[in-house]
Amino acid sequence: MRARQPPIPYDCPSCKKRPINAKATTVFVRGLVLWIKMGEKTSIGCVGCVRASVFRETGLSLLIGWFSPFALVINPFMILLGALQGTFLGKNSGAARRYLQDRGFPTGVEGDLNRTAYALAVALMAGEWTDEAASRGWREAVMVKRENLSIERMNAVVEIGQNLIPTFESSDFEWYVVMSKELGHPLHIAQAAHRILTAEQRATLNSFLSAILAKLEFPARRREAFAAVQSAVL
Ligand SMILES: [Zn+2]
Repeated sequence: MRARQPPIPYDCPSCKKRPINAKATTVFVRGLVLWIKMGEKTSIGCVGCVRASVFRETGLSLLIGWFSPFALVINPFMILLGALQGTFLGKNSGAARRYLQDRGFPTGVEGDLNRTAYALAVALMAGEWTDEAASRGWREAVMVKRENLSIERMNAVVEIGQNLIPTFESSDFEWYVVMSKELGHPLHIAQAAHRILTAEQRATLNSFLSAILAKLEFPARRREAFAAVQSAVL
């Protein structure tokens, strides 16, 4: 049996009263005149708020999901699925925790230092949260990511990480490189790290980011972002 995990140390983003302990991904359908648009929306929070969000999304499909022939066929199934999902939604802290961890947030468990180190390094190197990145088309975004996270740059970070954090794993770091677009804003991750990591872990995280900044080239504005993130961590 797996060891019992501590509660997730964040309040539900909707009600701010109960801790986060549920996650749901709803599939929605919006029928355009000739074709449909499908998408998914993930919510995390307390069970009550996540359930409300599933029903809200399903209700929206009920109202505006009908405007194409194919949507007429598929939408009833989607609505039924949403209704069942909302009705039977229970606590699933494991899924909510994984969702937060994949975005780089510490969740009060072992491995938080590593995860925040991987996520902050990748977020600061890739810069996908910047206004500049938001204006890029996908092709250009791929090119820029390849440049910012080149093999040489990644190897340099792995070397720094392994020197400072004995459990630093290059394969885990690469997972965050793959997930780079999904990561939280580095300042938000830093603020969470400040709240949740120990003083010693925060000092290590700070040295790790300083070493990356000293080793690799960055434009002036990104260097400022490093400084802001580092002071938020400490
Ligand atoms: Zn809530």
